[in-house]
Amino acid sequence: MAELLFRDDAYLKSCEATVTAVHGDAVELDRTVFYPLGGGQAGDTGKIGHWRVIDTRKGPLPDQVLHVLQPGSNPAAGAKAEIQIDWQRRHRLMRLHTALHLLGAVVKAPVTGGRINEDKAHLDFDIEMERLVKDAIEAQVNEFVKSATATRASWISDAELDARPELVRTMSVAPPRGEDRVRLLEIPGIDLQACGGTHVANTGEIGLLKVVKIRSEGKRNKRVTLELA
Ligand SMILES: [Zn+2]
Repeated sequence: MAELLFRDDAYLKSCEATVTAVHGDAVELDRTVFYPLGGGQAGDTGKIGHWRVIDTRKGPLPDQVLHVLQPGSNPAAGAKAEIQIDWQRRHRLMRLHTALHLLGAVVKAPVTGGRINEDKAHLDFDIEMERLVKDAIEAQVNEFVKSATATRASWISDAELDARPELVRTMSVAPPRGEDRVRLLEIPGIDLQACGGTHVANTGEIGLLKVVKIRSEGKRNKRVTLELA
């Protein structure tokens, strides 16, 4: 079980850490700034000492994070190292992740899925195609960007979340449960939902967005894809 530093500060780029376990090409640390794939957001890449981290995944246990190294050599358990994420890549993920919160506020329909990669991000909606107008969506998300609204994270208990189901837009990208608390991300006046991902501090930091594609992925999946302009 590691101390997950990104939960309280998404802007931490590096720290000192100790290797606590090695599983093949994956290592666990006592503390980490690496976000593991989850909630649709890609896992971080970076370095542990001179070892290259090519992906980060959740382990089967709560708060277990597996740093997947480039195959070859591994540090040994007990080794101490400076760990560092690829910040430019993570910052793009944070900008695009926060952009999806804006998109979800613009398109008023149930969310059936989502994904955030370094170069683009999408949400899937259960909605009729005719109601998705590219230029209108793009203009509205960019209004939210230009509003330069500060984002705010807070915590609630699992029980409080159960009592407020409207805080979970989609089960497919639901935040992690079973840890007695769930994080809420609020963009005042725009969006409020349970989310375990990493976000930028202000919508202005996202920069302008482009809706690059609107496509049907099935009867209940209409996919809207965003890129940073
Ligand atoms: Zn989020």
